[in-house]
Parts: sequence; structure tokens; C-alpha cells
Amino acid sequence: MVKKSPTEFSFWEKKIETLPTQDLKKLQAKRLRQTIKKAQTVPFYEEQFKAASTDPDKIESIDCIKSLPFTTKDDLRNQWPYGLLAVPKDDCVRVHASSGTTGRAVAMLHTEKDIDTWSNLVARCLYGVGVRKRDIFQNMAGYGLFTGGLGFHYGAQKLGTLTIPIGAGNSRRQVNLMRDFGTTVTHIMPSFAIYLMKVFKDMGIDPKRDTKLRIFFLGAEPHSEETRKRIETFYDVDAYNSYGLSEMNGPGVSFECHLKDGLHIWEDSYIVEIIDPEGDEPVPMGEVGELVYTTLQREAMPLIRYRSQDLASFIQEPCKCGRTHCRISRIQGRVDDMIIWKGVNIFPLQIEKVLMEIPEVQETYLVVLETENDVDRMIIQVEVRESFLKGEKSYELQARIVNSLQAELLAKPEVQLVSSGTIPVPEAGKAKRVIDKRSF
Ligand code: AMP
Ligand code: ZN
Repeated sequence: MVKKSPTEFSFWEKKIETLPTQDLKKLQAKRLRQTIKKAQTVPFYEEQFKAASTDPDKIESIDCIKSLPFTTKDDLRNQWPYGLLAVPKDDCVRVHASSGTTGRAVAMLHTEKDIDTWSNLVARCLYGVGVRKRDIFQNMAGYGLFTGGLGFHYGAQKLGTLTIPIGAGNSRRQVNLMRDFGTTVTHIMPSFAIYLMKVFKDMGIDPKRDTKLRIFFLGAEPHSEETRKRIETFYDVDAYNSYGLSEMNGPGVSFECHLKDGLHIWEDSYIVEIIDPEGDEPVPMGEVGELVYTTLQREAMPLIRYRSQDLASFIQEPCKCGRTHCRISRIQGRVDDMIIWKGVNIFPLQIEKVLMEIPEVQETYLVVLETENDVDRMIIQVEVRESFLKGEKSYELQARIVNSLQAELLAKPEVQLVSSGTIPVPEAGKAKRVIDKRSF
């Protein structure tokens, strides 16, 4: 049985995807002017622009964006649910909401044209890494207000790919469907892809032997290169990082091309800046900062300089794939994900990177912060193979993990080895990596 068909890498919309940079910037400036005009009809922005003396007709280049006010998540919350609409409510056909992992959710509304533009961006991401009409696409992201389900669904439909809209969870059923329908492509959360490995093993199904899987889209949560490699090896697939946020539609904002060397951002739809998370100024090229987005094509809810709280850096060199749209690093985490422990700043992704490099480490980990006798402890629970839970092997492994973590974090955490399946993994929804029980 030939499992994998050869992958073609090409463009869904070659002209726009490879538009010379100068033309892309001109297009952005034109769309920025239009966006500001549209946003001016929203009382919230009207006031903001008045305070910042914004005149859309004076926007000559996208550099002028620096004079515009920021929009924050709190602004979106305060305008819940219809406050930021730039079109009559009757012109909207869909509402989505962020998953609310960092507080109250925010609502985003879309016109039919918005949905179409969004679907097209997702189709570009899919097509670019070789998804074709003949593929079978199993969408394992939650359907509903969360954008991962319907966002990918509409993109795949635009491409004409047969889609299995199973959504999140239902591990055994997912595996059965993959095998029975000959699924070739999935969209899955990385933590769930790691968890599902155990389910495959328990069911005695070998993805290499028993499935036709060839492409995974890993999205919705931060994950390390080491996690990608584990997933690619176990499932025998190419796994691509796919990033988006509800406020910018959802998936389809940024994605890896087949070179897997940073994520392109669709600049005909978004202007992206990277700024100092604690200030208003851009960080130097190549440094990590907060991603700030301006929509360029949205009808229902144009957003100006939205502070995403996601942290990444620009990659300066043009990509060898031929796309001219800028690239960013993988998301390092969110501003509010950062753990400050004993004066050291730590992102869960740093911990994951170290752990996933250690072959004895199994599916998952959990960081627990607690205070005991006025001392803040950081305990990292790590799932390992049964044979490493006792005796000499266990001491050796524990010490090795502590040393590797200390070298990366520049602080020495405690490590607890636990058996596989001990740490709860949500079947649907984003993995919780940190429990902070410290008393402040
Ligand atoms: P939501 O709007 O609830 O779907 O959540 C969007 C957030 O999920 C983003 O702002 C990121 O913090 C996170 N996220 C989504 N995709 C990725 C990804 N590929 N890598 C890292 N974080 C991601
Ligand atoms: Zn590329």
C-alpha cells in the first residue's frame, strides 16, 4: 500500500502571495486608509482618533501607523457584544469568541464577506503545504464559538477537501475515523496530539502502518520544536505550526510554509508590528516583543493596533519559498504566561523544550508553584516511563532533568517523576501547563 502521495508545494494565490514587497506595502497603506475610514464610524474609534488627531487622508505609508492609538483586550471586553461594529448588526452572519483563557471572553462578529476572506486565508495555508482536494481532512479542533473548528472547516471547504468535522475530544473515535476514512490531514492541538499517542498505543494501532496520515496542523497553543519532532516521528507526518487568534479571525493569520522556518503573516490582511510589551515602541529587528495587529480587510469589526499579548520576533531574511509576506518566530508564549519565580522570568515553553528533548519523558508535564514556610517552590511534575519511576534509574533521570532545566531556566526547580496518564489532559481545549498556588 502506498501511504503517502508525493506532496506538491505551490501557491493558492500566487500573485498576492509573492507580490513584490514595495507593492505589498502600497496595498497595505491603501487598505489602512480604508480601514481607518471604516473604523471612524465606530464611536469608540471616533473618540480615539479625535484624541490622536488621526486623519486617514494623511496616511501615506504604513509607517504612519505608529501615530494611531492601540486597542486592548479590555477595550474589546468593554465594548461587548456589539460596541465595535462598523456595519449594521443585520449584515453580520457569525459570531465567535476567544476561549477566555485569560479572563472574560471577547466577541468578534463577521459579515459574509469577512468569512469568505478568512476562509481564503486558511485555504492559502492548507494549499501551500500540499493539501489538495483529494485529501481527507479530519478537523480535531472544537466547533462552536472557538475559531479553530469553523475557521479551518471553511478553509478546507473552500479548497474542496472532504472534511470530517469531528471537533475536539473523543480520542478513540478520532483514531477509528482516521483509520476507517483514510484521513490524510488533521488539525489538532499539539498537547492533544501528544496525548493521542498513548491512545493509539492502547488500541494497538500504529499510525505508520494503519493510517494514511501525512500532514498535521498544530495550532491554538504554544509548542516547541521538540514537540513537533515527536509528533512527526510518531505519526510519520509533516507537522506545521498554525497560529491565529479570535480577534484577528482565528486560524489563517500566520502559518508555516513547507520550509518550516518561521511563520508567514498574511500582510495583505494584517499589518503586524512587534513592540515592547511594557511600552509603546517597536523592539529592534529580531528581538522578541508583543505582536500588534491591524486588520486590513475586515468589514464588521476592523481593529486598529490590537495588542495581542502574544510574544514573538520578526525574521528579517526573505523566505526561500518565494512568499514575500513577513515571517515571525514561533510564539514564545503570552505576556501573561510568564512565570516570575525567585526573580527569574520563565516561559512554560522553555520547560517543554527541555523536557521533550529527553527520550524517557512521556506525554506531558505540569508546573506547580506553591508557597511553603514563606518559600516559593516550583515543582515540575513530569510523566515518565514506568521503569523510570523507582530505584537508581529514577534518581539518575530526575537529576538529569533538573540539571537540563537549570541550564535553560537559570534557576533550579524541583522535579517529580510521575507515571504516564497521571496529569490530566483536557480532551477538548487548551492544555493547562501551570498551576500557581503561591501566596503573594
Ligand atoms: P483564541 O482566540 O481563544 O483562539 O486564542 C488565541 C491564542 O492562542 C493566541 O493569542 C495565542 O496565545 C494562542 N495560540 C494560537 N495558536 C498558537 C500557536 N500556533 N502557537 C502558540 N500559541 C498559539
Ligand atoms: Zn516561506
